[in-house]
Amino acid sequence: MTAEPALPWWQDLTPRQIARLAADDGVAILPLAAIEQHGEHLPLSTDLDIALGLLHAALPRLRPGLPLCVLPPLAVGLSLEHGAFAGTLSLSPETALATLVELGDSVARAGLRRLVLFNSHGGNKAVLDLAALKLRVAHRMLVVRANYFRFAAPPDALPAAELRHGLHGGALETAMMLHLAPHKVRRDAIADFPSLGRALAEQGRLLGPEGEAGFAWMAQDLNPGGATGDARLGDAALGARLVAHFGAALARVIEDARDFDLAALGAAGTKAATGG
Ligand SMILES: [Zn+2]
Repeated sequence: MTAEPALPWWQDLTPRQIARLAADDGVAILPLAAIEQHGEHLPLSTDLDIALGLLHAALPRLRPGLPLCVLPPLAVGLSLEHGAFAGTLSLSPETALATLVELGDSVARAGLRRLVLFNSHGGNKAVLDLAALKLRVAHRMLVVRANYFRFAAPPDALPAAELRHGLHGGALETAMMLHLAPHKVRRDAIADFPSLGRALAEQGRLLGPEGEAGFAWMAQDLNPGGATGDARLGDAALGARLVAHFGAALARVIEDARDFDLAALGAAGTKAATGG
């Protein structure tokens, strides 16, 4: 990897600089990740490495001068589904929700009203949704739920079945890690990890781990190795393409968050709210 410019970290600023950012109606970005097993070929840090890699890819693509800062990443998230594998760290749902809300409260207290929750781990989705809603209720602020894995992938990047079922440590994550942090990838452990979800879909079932009717799952339910997907389909060139693609999508989300008309966020009841 080439040397990257530092991210514009919240923690590098002073109170006066934060106040300036608020006066400029800037965007705060909170990266959410996980420290959890990704099979034997990828490190526990995979989701954190991808979140930061996509942020690095997004920032140069932003229109110049857009005021923003990046909060300290929430490295450990909600990873209960990976708890059977050594090394997984997880908050409880209650702690994760409280943590997100309290960080959002702090951002609101600093006067910022545009917060992008940028998430790289599927297990964080539910708590991210709840935290965003609680913050919206409490602060009349824009809280964006940006899960990169919900961004449309480049259409010809991978087979549709791999995109749909290679949820964890499959081709997508393996490719991005081979680009972002190749020294952390154990290439001799890269393999095909067939998913129960794919088998059910091929039987024509609506029921699946993330199907039209989903069921709660733990990683070992989908594949005993803890990964799902064909990691052999990922290589560094594909990873570079995916990082550029998702980074560009994230840049658009950040620009949209900056351009969003906050007046659209009405106050409760019939009484018009006073802004700011
Ligand atoms: Zn992951």
